[in-house]
This record gives sequence, structure tokens and C-alpha cells, in this order.
Amino acid sequence: MSGLRDSSEKSTHPPAPSLGGRGSLPGTREWYADGLRFECTQCGNCCTGPPGFVWFNEAEGRAMAAALGVSESEFYTRHARREGGVGGHWSLKERKTEKDSGGGGGYDCTFLDRESIPGKAICGIYHARPTQCRTWPFWPENLKSESSWQRVKRQTPCPGMSRGPLITIEQIRIQRDRSSL
Ligand code: SF4
Repeated sequence: MSGLRDSSEKSTHPPAPSLGGRGSLPGTREWYADGLRFECTQCGNCCTGPPGFVWFNEAEGRAMAAALGVSESEFYTRHARREGGVGGHWSLKERKTEKDSGGGGGYDCTFLDRESIPGKAICGIYHARPTQCRTWPFWPENLKSESSWQRVKRQTPCPGMSRGPLITIEQIRIQRDRSSL
């Protein structure tokens, strides 16, 4: 299973030295030049699964603390963990769940809310969520090829990929390039 916070194949927002290319060489036509369809169904599959990372920067940390109405100190204590020791990068904490999409149990993002809307799993800080989450599923590694797109769609599984409204190439490029900053 893979999603936006699975450590095995993705969740490589900053630090992201291994992100690779942006899906095409300059001047070449991306395989998704005609756009891709995407519409989130609020299943939450991308926010659960094996242990993983949701990276965020200082500004995003401030925004999340403000959205929660808590001090930054409290936010970091309750919801964040630093990977790589002092000077390392911040990631959101996870909590154990029996409800991940594979059915075998896994780890939810600290902000995944499975209670508020019956049958849905939503982001508890949606309007303050980090870039890694905002840009899913238009990450460079997911856009490398059509088979990459299909594989991550299947493995997550993300029922929102390849359905819903057409996301234009211009919109995809913005998401893609923001995700790898
Ligand atoms: S439809 Fe896709 S993006 Fe939306 S919650 Fe499910 S896995 Fe995540």
C-alpha cells in the first residue's frame, strides 16, 4: 500500500534529494500533456498505511499551530517529530490504527479524522495542511510515467486518481513543481 505518507516509495517532500526528474526533459512533451483527472473521495488512504513521513517547514508549522489555536511549542510537542536529530527535518506524528486500507492495521497521520463524517476519513487541518499534502498526487515520482501514475493509484489505493474533473497540464506543473521545492 502506498500513499502520500508511506516511507517506502514516496513521502519524499523535503528533504527530497531522491525525487528525480520532473517528469520530462525541458522542451519535451509530458505524457500527461492533455491533463489528468483527479477528484478526492475523502477515503483517507493516502494518509495512512505503513510508517511514513509528512514533511513540513517552519512556516507550515506556524500555520498548523494557528489553525489548531495552540502555541507552536504545543503543536510541536503533540503533533511533530524531528527526523535526523538536531537540524533534521520535521514530520507530523502518526498514530496506530486498525483501519488502514489494507485492513491489517497501520499508521494514520496525526490529523486524519475518521470520526467527523461517517464513512469518510478527512484531514483535520485541511486548510493549513502542508505542501506535501496539497500537491498529492501530482508529485514528480508519480508523474514519471503513466505506469508510475497507475502503480501509485493502485498501491495507495487512491480512487480519486484518473476520475473527476480534468486537471490541466498548467495546473499539474504548478503542483508538481511546488512539491519538489
Ligand atoms: S481519494 Fe486519493 S487523495 Fe483522496 S483521500 Fe483517498 S487516497 Fe487520498
